Amino acid sequence: MPGFFVIGDESTHVVADARCPECLEEYPKTCLCGGLMHAASGEADEGGADWPATRCDQCGRSEEELH
Ligand SMILES: [Zn+2]
Ligand SMILES: [Zn+2]
Repeated sequence: MPGFFVIGDESTHVVADARCPECLEEYPKTCLCGGLMHAASGEADEGGADWPATRCDQCGRSEEELH
């Protein structure tokens, strides 16, 4: 039974699935920890930046946290 993974209000990302159906194009990416970095269509923040909301399915960090 696959584990599901939540980013923002998207709750159907699939843990450890390199072809996660819910991710944006080009995701999931491999995380530094060996897990997969998933991406949900991000909401624009107050500054107008439109970063995708990213989160690793193993360590829970976002891509921004890793940079
Ligand atoms: Zn995903
Ligand atoms: Zn990670």
